[in-house]
Amino acid sequence: TYVVTDACIQCKFTDCVEVCPVDCFYEGENTLVIAPDECIDCGVCEPECPADAIIPDTESAAEKWIAFNGKYAALW
Ligand code: SF4
Repeated sequence: TYVVTDACIQCKFTDCVEVCPVDCFYEGENTLVIAPDECIDCGVCEPECPADAIIPDTESAAEKWIAFNGKYAALW
């Protein structure tokens, strides 16, 4: 699973949304988020993000964003 981090804040691009094969991006409060139970871990979105805000949840920097993505994705 990939997660969106705070580097996404105020990014106006939605390149990630356009390339995601399973449409698992959702609107958070001021970032996009990835629904953890829908992401198929394909990695296609990662290089498309102009803010480098998308990282795999296996990275240590992702740890604090896992619950954040799950929380906002669950609101939809
Ligand atoms: Fe979508 Fe693939 Fe990115 Fe997961 S890794 S959010 S499935 S594009």
